Amino acid sequence: MENMKRTVTCGNLRLADNGKIVVLNGWVHRHRDHGGIKFIDLRDRYGITQIVVDADSPDKLKAAAQDLKFEYCIAVKGKVRPRPESMKNTRMPTGEIEVQAEDIDILSRCDVLPFMIDEKSDAREELRFKYRYLDLRSFSMQRKIKLRHEVVFAVRGYLKDHDFYEIETPTLIKSTPEGARDFLVPARLFPGRFYALPQSPQLFKQILMISGFDKYFQIARCFRDEDARGDRQPEHTQIDIEMSFVSKDDIFAVLEGLFCHIFKEALSFELKIPFKRIAYNDAMNRYGSDKPDLRFQLYLKDFNEFADEGDFKVFKSVLENKGTIKAIVAPGCGSFSRKQISELEETAKIYGASGLAWMKVTEEGLEGGISKFYSSQADKIKTGLDAKPGDLILLAGSGWKKACTSLGAVRIKLAHILNLVSPDVFEFCWVTDFPLFEWNEDEKRWEAAHHMFTMPQEQYIKDMEKDPGKVKGDLYDLVCNGVELASGSIRIHDPGLQRRIFKIVGFSEEEAQRRFGFLLEALKYGPPPHGGIAPGLDRLIMLMAGENTIREVIAFPKNTQGVSLMDESPSEVDDEQLKELHIKVVRE
Ligand code: ASP
Repeated sequence: MENMKRTVTCGNLRLADNGKIVVLNGWVHRHRDHGGIKFIDLRDRYGITQIVVDADSPDKLKAAAQDLKFEYCIAVKGKVRPRPESMKNTRMPTGEIEVQAEDIDILSRCDVLPFMIDEKSDAREELRFKYRYLDLRSFSMQRKIKLRHEVVFAVRGYLKDHDFYEIETPTLIKSTPEGARDFLVPARLFPGRFYALPQSPQLFKQILMISGFDKYFQIARCFRDEDARGDRQPEHTQIDIEMSFVSKDDIFAVLEGLFCHIFKEALSFELKIPFKRIAYNDAMNRYGSDKPDLRFQLYLKDFNEFADEGDFKVFKSVLENKGTIKAIVAPGCGSFSRKQISELEETAKIYGASGLAWMKVTEEGLEGGISKFYSSQADKIKTGLDAKPGDLILLAGSGWKKACTSLGAVRIKLAHILNLVSPDVFEFCWVTDFPLFEWNEDEKRWEAAHHMFTMPQEQYIKDMEKDPGKVKGDLYDLVCNGVELASGSIRIHDPGLQRRIFKIVGFSEEEAQRRFGFLLEALKYGPPPHGGIAPGLDRLIMLMAGENTIREVIAFPKNTQGVSLMDESPSEVDDEQLKELHIKVVRE
């Protein structure tokens, strides 16, 4: 009905609107009866307004109010009036007024709800995903969707003001594996041929550089067909960026400016720039992670020197096998029970450590655990590790990476146990100087640590085939609070060098040509030096919203198995559809 079209939202009205006749449209959030007076909290995405149906209202109006149930969609016409002093709610923007209803129109009814639309629903995630449209009605979800919208607009505004063009790249592309498995789309018109969904716009953004669009960005959807694990989604969104004629310092400067702008616009939060820079080896040695959480002052230390002089055989043999022993001092944890220590050991084992050794620090020296092997060095160890009486020293020994990462995981666990992680802090850093290649033990071959288009650092190029494990890439990550927010690199713009990289990661000349021939061809036509980066939008919003999973900040996420419970995808399709696509399903 035209006269029941809203004139204000449920978040608009204030004391100054006293006496106005208004129409509100929204959902019945709560309703209650107080001795013949009916109170309705009417909700839309702008807020909640209290509607009152007075006891002396006409019967027709009272009957309509009586009919209302949770989440009915209604229109209300009425007069704004101040709430009685005792009913004012200063925590609500509309808490000083109410609307005295004169007419109520039920626009649609609502079935019994599977869960209450609450500020923060405690319904099971599965239920929230099945009825995502209801879950999205909650203020907590609406706030996160709004934050996401504001961040995206801040990105667009900032990059446009810095001369970037937003350019869309295709969603149906050639299968060009970048590390993960591609999602394939059968091409009906070409039996046996497939498009792939892009893992990222990587090659297209590089080709846009060759076309001269020297500053590009895109809010890009990326698809990776990986096993469902942890917080992965089969599709995620990146703020994809590429620039020509730049070094990594130029890219860092743009990103630091961009992130300052985003945090200011969306959270009114001032970030400190420039962000710290930490080389990969230092990050591993000091924090036990290539995505170090800098919010607390706990550091891994080297124990090799002490292990070498001590009598503990296990550590000695680690050293003989060219391994490393790392230590962490847990402040004030000398009173930890065996049980508490073995819980920490379990954490270390998840990351491959065979065990976690320990010693307690006392006034006299060291006590318990493996301390008897180090009694003559106690003072030296206490000074060297800066350990105080009452502290607990935890030690892991194995290959360097395993020793670091397993103790790094213990570091995070300790910080949570000891409550060292300050909330509402954003500690950003750049991690640089990553190895370009990693050894894949299962397939017995080198693979690209980031992707195959990354430039090796100049000094390694000449002899890189001799020992690929030593080569460092011109490659960087942006990390915040222990979360990897972005990866990027300076790219190869020389087809000869690109061919050498393909060869190291095991592509024959022919296969490289078949898969990436179009890139190698494009690189023949005056490619500019270029580089880029791609912050993950979902992770960024997750951090900004203080959430622990990206599922909380995506409007329609898949569950942890990669299934969308609302529309039930993936689903089976008709035989006819398969036939058209020349596909036969083989069930094992
Ligand atoms: N394309 C890369 C990725 O998706 C990011 C980049 O190097 O810009 O991880």
